[in-house]
Amino acid sequence: MSPVDLKNLTPEQLTEFLQGLGKEAFRARQLLRWIYKRGVCDLAAMTDLSKVLREDLAGRAMISNWEPETVQVSRDGTRKYLFRLADGETVETVRIPMEGGRSTLCISSQVGCAMQCSFCLTGSFGLTRNLTIAEIVNQVCAARKDGPVNNIVLMGMGEPLHNLDNVIGALKILYAPEGFDYSPRRVTLSTSGLVPQMEELGCRVRVGLAVSLTAANDALRDRLMPINRRYPLDQLMTACRNYPLKPGERITFEYILLRGVNDAVADARELVRLLHGVKAKVNLIAFNEYAGSPFQTPDDRTIRRFQTFLLDHGLVAVRRASKGRDILAACGQLKGELENCTCP
Ligand code: SF4
Repeated sequence: MSPVDLKNLTPEQLTEFLQGLGKEAFRARQLLRWIYKRGVCDLAAMTDLSKVLREDLAGRAMISNWEPETVQVSRDGTRKYLFRLADGETVETVRIPMEGGRSTLCISSQVGCAMQCSFCLTGSFGLTRNLTIAEIVNQVCAARKDGPVNNIVLMGMGEPLHNLDNVIGALKILYAPEGFDYSPRRVTLSTSGLVPQMEELGCRVRVGLAVSLTAANDALRDRLMPINRRYPLDQLMTACRNYPLKPGERITFEYILLRGVNDAVADARELVRLLHGVKAKVNLIAFNEYAGSPFQTPDDRTIRRFQTFLLDHGLVAVRRASKGRDILAACGQLKGELENCTCP
């Protein structure tokens, strides 16, 4: 039997695994601290584990440890990591610098994506496979070698709710006090709108929710995001209204502005109507053009007019700086094939 990658086990599963070997529960906490707090992946280096435990684990368990195959650094300091997986597939992770020396890590949950949003490069490649728990948390482990990561967003390649069990497993490691010890307030998951999985997510784990909206009526959203044909806006908005939020929390609605498609004042008016009564914050993101893309970036004046309309009608609307523009690291533009990258 091939050895178990301990990063593929949630804290509970790790405890059970060790109990199966006749070990005490506190051993799991020791292992978690070594792996995630100290970043040590060599069992022999875990000096406070007994020699017997280390010998018992050797052969039965291993701990994967990633190094990026390439790192691209943008002019604004954004770093895009490319990791090659054991089966030869690739996945991308982006570290985005924030004010005050903080940073947000955008991680991937799948190789490719099945959702086929028309403005997204990842979607145009289709889905290859889900990432394992270890492959999700290893993106965080590897990026933290470059410095602290303050916030995590599941907004990279893939639809996280299409890989729900592994994503929830990874969240448990992110939140475990002996693991990464992130507060759920620091972690956000972005979905294209898989309604049943949104409901399940809210019941199983706490995480900030972002919904990739991009259109405020069904006709346009059907065209831009095919998932809307299965779960139209009334179902999506009901799921958003029912999503469990703590006081002061809001759902983030991402709206990618596409020139001449969804950037008119009439579109802003529809958005205001759609979000009426929802605890919402709107992130406006100017489309990041790439070679061969069917859409263009709106001009600055149009974006400001759209944002002003939302603000004037009582919505929280933030214009999100498009970081990493020069290395194609914006939302929905990770593709796992840097060799085909058309950026300068
Ligand atoms: Fe998938 Fe997100 Fe791209 Fe849509 S925008 S195709 S959900 S990766």
